[in-house]
Amino acid sequence: MNPRIHLKPGKDKPLRARHPWIFSGAIARVEDARDGDTVGIFDSTGGFLARGYYNSKSQITARVWTFNDEPIDRAFLRARLERVVATRTTLIDPATTNAYRLVNAESDFLPGLIVDRYADFVIMQFLTLGVEKRKAELAKLVEELLEPRGVYERSDVDVREKEGLVPAVGVLRGEEPPDLIEMRENDFRFLVDVKRGHKTGFYLDQRENRRRVAELLAAGQQGSAGAGEPQSAAPEILNGFAYTGGFAVYACTANENARVVNLDASRDALNLARENMRLNDCEDRGEFVEGDAFQILRRYRDSGKLFDAIILDPPKFVYAQSQLQSGLRGYKDINLLAFKLLKPGGTLVTFSCSGQVSAALFQKVVFEAATDAKRDAQIVAKLSQSPDHPILLAFPESEYLKGLVCRA
Ligand code: SAH
Repeated sequence: MNPRIHLKPGKDKPLRARHPWIFSGAIARVEDARDGDTVGIFDSTGGFLARGYYNSKSQITARVWTFNDEPIDRAFLRARLERVVATRTTLIDPATTNAYRLVNAESDFLPGLIVDRYADFVIMQFLTLGVEKRKAELAKLVEELLEPRGVYERSDVDVREKEGLVPAVGVLRGEEPPDLIEMRENDFRFLVDVKRGHKTGFYLDQRENRRRVAELLAAGQQGSAGAGEPQSAAPEILNGFAYTGGFAVYACTANENARVVNLDASRDALNLARENMRLNDCEDRGEFVEGDAFQILRRYRDSGKLFDAIILDPPKFVYAQSQLQSGLRGYKDINLLAFKLLKPGGTLVTFSCSGQVSAALFQKVVFEAATDAKRDAQIVAKLSQSPDHPILLAFPESEYLKGLVCRA
């Protein structure tokens, strides 16, 4: 058996630019390959291009392990994992942070695989059949390299459907994690529900943004009084789409009297947000509002309520190109409302994690929102995902999170 796929003429270009995906339309012929197999990938003249894994059920029919002609065995996987582990610790300060992404799939040359560390536990996600087939091997390697108390699987993600896979959750190695893991992020303490929370439990991709936003809010408190309006002694911050209070805990450090209204549709998330504020000695400065942000922002607008700062970190609005227009209307709507709710000199921190919405398009939507709200706004910072969620130059799809910090 020598499983191979042969590409159509001209379809080798993206691979030569080291893009890791082969779409079904690029394939001329498949030889001896079953779904999940490791395959050689060849151009239309029979020249070797790459070695990857194959799944006929997926539109992304093959993903590249390597551009070298080498076996994909235990030693290969171990070397790949060793490299990311060694370089990650240069991007994270282990003295202040013990929760971070170790493997970010394609952008760490391990397509389909996510590995996150939370203190003594490791959470893995297997997004594709190619890595699903190597689950036991990969979990064992992760255990050997990181020596955690346990390795737990959270492969309960919709994208697995596109690979013909059902959700999978449970212990892979060692101990089962407790219901809540306490971890440290930039010296703040957080409880993380790794078994039921979003993603693998926490939005690790926002770590650097939380820090930066706290700094900018602190600076805004000192700086913007000259705009004519004195800043409030007890600034009010609205943390929209608060989840478990990541931004709230950091935002409290902007000013010792700052108060944070946490708004989220999930009661469980807000309960944990309260716990997290308590853990960082700022629970008395938090308020917790359960409901739909679109409705609650309107209610605040109608009642004339204003904030010194507003953070908007909504879930993905655009999953497919067909949802682009409705998604953009969603972003416009909440940002328009937010601009209306800002005091003069106030700060809006606004994010989009929809990969289909480029940074330029997102900025345009925020601009239109400001215009409709009749607010002049300056961008004082542009934000992206934390460095443990690297963006591979050859794979622009790996850039998804963008944020703007605007002063109105
Ligand atoms: N900023 C958070 C992550 C936000 S994730 C952090 O740093 O941890 C998005 C959150 O939006 C989720 O908690 C989800 O419950 C919430 N959400 C989704 N739709 C919502 C809606 N219409 N109104 C309010 N909250 C919503």
